Parts: sequence; C-alpha cells; structure tokens
Amino acid sequence: MISGRIHSIETCGTVDGPGLRFVIFTQGCPLRCLYCHNPDCRHPEDGQVVTVDELMQEVKKYRSYLRHGGVTVTGGEPLMQPEFVAEILRQSQALGLHTALDTSGYVQIPAAAPVLAHTDLVLLDIKSYDPALYQRVTHVSLEPTLAFARHLAAIGKPVWIRFVLVPGLTDPRDNIEGLADFVATLTNVERVEVLPFHQMGAYKWEQLGYEYALKETQPPSAELIQSTVAQFAERGLYTVSS
Ligand code: SF4
Repeated sequence: MISGRIHSIETCGTVDGPGLRFVIFTQGCPLRCLYCHNPDCRHPEDGQVVTVDELMQEVKKYRSYLRHGGVTVTGGEPLMQPEFVAEILRQSQALGLHTALDTSGYVQIPAAAPVLAHTDLVLLDIKSYDPALYQRVTHVSLEPTLAFARHLAAIGKPVWIRFVLVPGLTDPRDNIEGLADFVATLTNVERVEVLPFHQMGAYKWEQLGYEYALKETQPPSAELIQSTVAQFAERGLYTVSS
C-alpha cells in the first residue's frame, strides 16, 4: 500500500488546471520562494500521512463533477514523492479523470518519468528567467527547471507555464522578455498564466515565525499585469491573467 504526506486537499479547485479540480497539496518543498503562500508545506516531515487508497476514496465521491475537470497534484513540490504521486495520477486516469501536475520543475528528470507517464497536463512554474534573480526568489538554481521544460517539450507533454508577477522583484522587463523568449521556443505550451502577487499567505509566515521579506509589497497594478501579458502574447503565446 503506497502512502505519502499531504498538507491538505481542496475538493472544488478552479485555478489549478482546466475545469473543476480535486486538488491535492503534497507536503515538502526544496524551494524557499519569497512569495510562497504555502510556507507550511515546506518541511517534508510535516503534514499528514495518507494512503493512495484513502485519497482515491475521496476522489471517487466527486467523480461525477470531476468529469468536467479532473485531479491536480500540487504542493509543496509533488515530485519530492514520485511513487506516491504517480500512483494517485495512475488511479485517477483509470477512473477516466484528467490529471494535472503542478511543479517547479526542480527535479531529476528520471525520477519524474513515472509521474509524467500518468500526467495529462503539467503546470510548470517558472519563477524568473534571470538566473541570479531566480536564485534570489527561490534559493535554488534555475537550470534544472529549464532542463525539465525542454524535456517536456521533447516528449510532447502539454504544459501551462505559470509566472508570478511580483512588483519590485520578478517584474524587470529583461527578466520577463527572457522568459517569454524561452517559452516561445517550446512547442508544447498551451497557455501562459501570469499570476499577480497577493498577500493572502502573509499570515502563515507570521504564524510560523518565518521572516517575510515581501511584507510591504503591493499587488501589481492593472497596467503592469497588462504589459506583462502583452510581452508573452507578442510571441504568439496564449496568455491569461487571473
Ligand atoms: S515552489 Fe511553491 S510551495 Fe515551494 S516554496 Fe515555492 S511557492 Fe512555496
């Protein structure tokens, strides 16, 4: 019986893939994003242990409406628990459900292969394109994510790219130009999502006693969101913002 650690589930998600989603937030993440709205997902030893069978019992309760959406595994970083996540996605597909994996792509590609075999859509978060800025935002290096993106293109896996727009951090024009140029080289990208920074996770940082560097940062203006969307769209990429 395969088990893993999750942070929580959301039974009616609408922002993590197409349609209504059963969303599983896995526990543990190797990144330390400055704007993380789930800092309580950070440590792999926290959260709760569940078996795949227990999770699938829950999924089955919502099966009828999930036919118009599916199952998304996010986190944290789902690819920290590849065997667990692969089995969730495999069983979801066996139920006829669409599967999505939300990942930073900071992963060894061979370890991800069993998961990708049962993933219909990858939501790939690329948190910046300038390597130094990426390191500053996430505390890890950019290259594994770019390698993962190229791999997904090579195997023809459908991808939605996600980019969090943070004023004063990820918004330098060159950073976005570089990312848009890179994404435009990938033949498997169905859409780009520009996600405006928000402060909804700020209280968690405080509760956990972590220092939150973006306390004073405001959400991006409508103009900044529009111009960022335009930078991607100019390259022929279907781009949306929430
Ligand atoms: S990858 Fe996601 S869960 Fe991990 S630190 Fe970054 S925002 Fe938080």
